[in-house]
Amino acid sequence: MLTDEFGREVTGVRVSLTDRCNFDCVYCHNEGLGDTRGPMDPQDDEMDTDDVVRFLEVAAEFDVDSVKFTGGEPMLRQDLEEIIARTPDSMEVSMTTNGTFLPGRAEALVDAGLQRVNVSQDALDREQFAAVTQSGAYDAVLEGVDAALEAGLDPVKLNMVVFKQTAGYVPQMVEHVAENDGLQLQLIEYMPELTGKPEWNIEIERVHNWLAEQAFEVEHREMHDRKRYWIASDDAAVAADGGTVEKPLEAGNGVGMVEIVDPVENPTFCANCHRVRVTHDGYLKGCLNRNDDLKPMGEMSKPQIREAFREVVANRVPYYGEYMIRNSDGEWEINDKYIDSYANV
Ligand code: SAM
Repeated sequence: MLTDEFGREVTGVRVSLTDRCNFDCVYCHNEGLGDTRGPMDPQDDEMDTDDVVRFLEVAAEFDVDSVKFTGGEPMLRQDLEEIIARTPDSMEVSMTTNGTFLPGRAEALVDAGLQRVNVSQDALDREQFAAVTQSGAYDAVLEGVDAALEAGLDPVKLNMVVFKQTAGYVPQMVEHVAENDGLQLQLIEYMPELTGKPEWNIEIERVHNWLAEQAFEVEHREMHDRKRYWIASDDAAVAADGGTVEKPLEAGNGVGMVEIVDPVENPTFCANCHRVRVTHDGYLKGCLNRNDDLKPMGEMSKPQIREAFREVVANRVPYYGEYMIRNSDGEWEINDKYIDSYANV
């Protein structure tokens, strides 16, 4: 297993299979690489099936035990089932998708070995969904979530980026996951650094406080310093209050689980980061919020991949937000004091 200078073992990889996407979400950082707008046909620079599998085999040699496929939209890859089927058995396989291609394909993905899925769903309101994703595929996403559940991917985690345009929809989404068995909600703090729209920020602490008020149980997970809020649907809460139900308040009985992923200026989050990223064109990336450490895996021979993997892990940095700071012109730049101040973290 590879361990970085700050004691973090690398146990997971997040592999972008393409930076093409059939959505154009207004907030999208595209795994830290910027805009996804562009041609939808397969691009020459994308890693091919064998490249992805070879990388995963090397990662498995280093005891990496989980892979998340992402993009762009990973389901635009027609070889996704093959990639999953050829992923080393020692790895847990998950995927983040916008859900539109899950109908008709979810079962094949599960048969190939997909174990977990996150579906991005930023609002339950058709118009707001269209405004945020710049797509009219609302129904396809809902059908995609159902298809995933039917294929046995339970729970399905809904990813919702919380920013100015979506914050008002949080209560509705929380009620939605509480009412529907098999769904969980992951509220993702909007990361402004790579989109250049800091004015869309909202205070994530207010969302934490609101959830804490709604929850009948709050669990604190050490991993990423994350909290989990267990919230009863309106009906279940009323029934429990009035003593009219015998069912305990737990998942499946009108109860939903909500987590907040809040990495922005959160040193604990980064101190618990055990993941290395791979770009669609075969570069290793030590941190979502950094692009100066991209490491090509060359012609993707196993010795080249091994060497690049060791190097990128050795160059990993620990603190989101402090690594990149705004200069006097308001532009983001590397914080020179960073390396010194965190050398002993
Ligand atoms: N197309 C897939 C999807 O829609 O989930 C996978 C790619 S998308 C880049 C992966 C995740 O990054 C999504 O859950 C998305 O919500 C999140 N994301 C993208 N830009 C973000 C930003 N600026 N702040 C926070 N989360 C962001």
